[in-house]
Amino acid sequence: MQDIGHFINGKRVAGTSGRFADVYNPATGEIQARLALASAAELDAAVQGALAAQPMWGATNPQRRARVMMRFVALLNENMDRLAEALSREHGKTIPDAKGDVIRGLEVAEFCIGAPHLLKGEFTDAAGPGIDMYSMRQPVGVVAGITPFNFPAMIPMWKMCPALVCGNAFILKPSERDPSVPLMLAELMQEAGLPDGLLQVVNGDRESVDAILDHPEISGIGFVGSTPIAQYIYGRGCSNGKRVQCFGGAKNHMIVMPDADMDQAVDALIGAGYGAAGERCMAISAAVPVGDATADALMEKLIPRVESLKIGPYTAGNDVDFGPVVTRAAQQRINGLVNSGVEQGATLAVDGRKFSMQGYENGFFVGASLFDNVTPEMDIYKEEIFGPVLSVVRRKSYEDAVKLTMSNPYGNGTAIFTRDGDTARDFASRINVGMVGINVPIPVPLAYHTFGGWKLSAFGDLNQHGPDAFRFYTKTKTVTSRWPSGTKEGASFAIPTME
Ligand code: NAD
Repeated sequence: MQDIGHFINGKRVAGTSGRFADVYNPATGEIQARLALASAAELDAAVQGALAAQPMWGATNPQRRARVMMRFVALLNENMDRLAEALSREHGKTIPDAKGDVIRGLEVAEFCIGAPHLLKGEFTDAAGPGIDMYSMRQPVGVVAGITPFNFPAMIPMWKMCPALVCGNAFILKPSERDPSVPLMLAELMQEAGLPDGLLQVVNGDRESVDAILDHPEISGIGFVGSTPIAQYIYGRGCSNGKRVQCFGGAKNHMIVMPDADMDQAVDALIGAGYGAAGERCMAISAAVPVGDATADALMEKLIPRVESLKIGPYTAGNDVDFGPVVTRAAQQRINGLVNSGVEQGATLAVDGRKFSMQGYENGFFVGASLFDNVTPEMDIYKEEIFGPVLSVVRRKSYEDAVKLTMSNPYGNGTAIFTRDGDTARDFASRINVGMVGINVPIPVPLAYHTFGGWKLSAFGDLNQHGPDAFRFYTKTKTVTSRWPSGTKEGASFAIPTME
């Protein structure tokens, strides 16, 4: 069996802790590799390498750093098929979806090519007699990223590309479930010209995460994953004096108004509810039709579409809509939640529990389920299911639908389907959710805007990618200078003002 280690100081190295985690192929249920789990000492060795490399890199001009990103983008395109295959083998998502995972990361690398412009500071000429004032953005130093299983290419790239192009060294702690692509990304970054030590991939579990949180030389941490872990990392990282941004779980609502194009709404719910087996933080898990007539029309169209979804391994090619979920535990948890929905009185219109994938009986497949008449008290509404399960929560009015969405503790994404501009505008302006779609079910902003939720979906005040990433990965320094130096005003004991 293959052993997967770490990527330190420009090369792959084996783990030395003696601790391992199994890496599965979710389609077959077989263990395909053993992943080394780093100790605190191994993490520290990675930090020491990063500390040695960072000052030179931080002093390299931004255009040269941007050129590394340019070559990295070219290498991602050249290696797209290889990356997608490795990603699908460990994650389970289809090949087109795996390519999308790589491409949404690549787009952030492309955005980072604009670093020389984005890192420009501000300058005030003649702020006082002979005084100029300017601010500059400087690297934070050594920063770390802790990433989830569901986008093993995109999310590591959302972190590493801006961090590196801003002149930092970056320690990546990827998910234990699908570690191969993050290691391949590190190799491609090196091939693109990144000097050794600046991108260290340390695989591990809670032990290495805690070592990151407590390491005095790590100055910033970006996390993406579930809300309880986001809260833990935010609290401990901040109390250790680091700058921290953590993005957590979600429960995304899509309101369907009576005037919506019902075919468009159904297409949207099928893709956003069941794509990637529902394992997306921007998946729609609650459909909220307004009025019983809208709900009935929606259900009538949804049921046959959900029943005909094609499930299978990524090797089956383009004929598959979604693959298995990531682990046996996830499969059991999702089926358990579907059971709870039935027990708590929801109408199970399509039952995915009995689905079995012929020839892949040991794989972690879950059939598509569709619930109607879901109420906010039910576990299927309260929990982030992270599986191919869509809940229809009927509301009587637009105001009720807005109230439901607003009172949900998560605030990652939401959408409204309507033909009415006034309603859409009111919704976008009032809703307390970070990313809003109008007739768009998965409103993931493009690389040059920023990505982030509200409420329990994000902790910290800056978003991911876009201009916010350049703020998070740099410190601002403001310089006040007086030339000619011969100007003499005498000593003053009051705070300087412009009076
Ligand atoms: P997770 O929280 O289980 O794991 C995320 C990372 O935290 C992994 O690297 C993991 O090793 C580490 N981790 C797990 N348990 C830990 C512990 N007890 N102590 C310290 N570290 C720990 O999340 P996941 O299952 O990999 O990913 C799915 C979750 O991520 C979902 O909740 C999803 O909504 C969320 N997500 C959010 C966004 C976003 O931008 N808001 C994006 C993608 C995924």
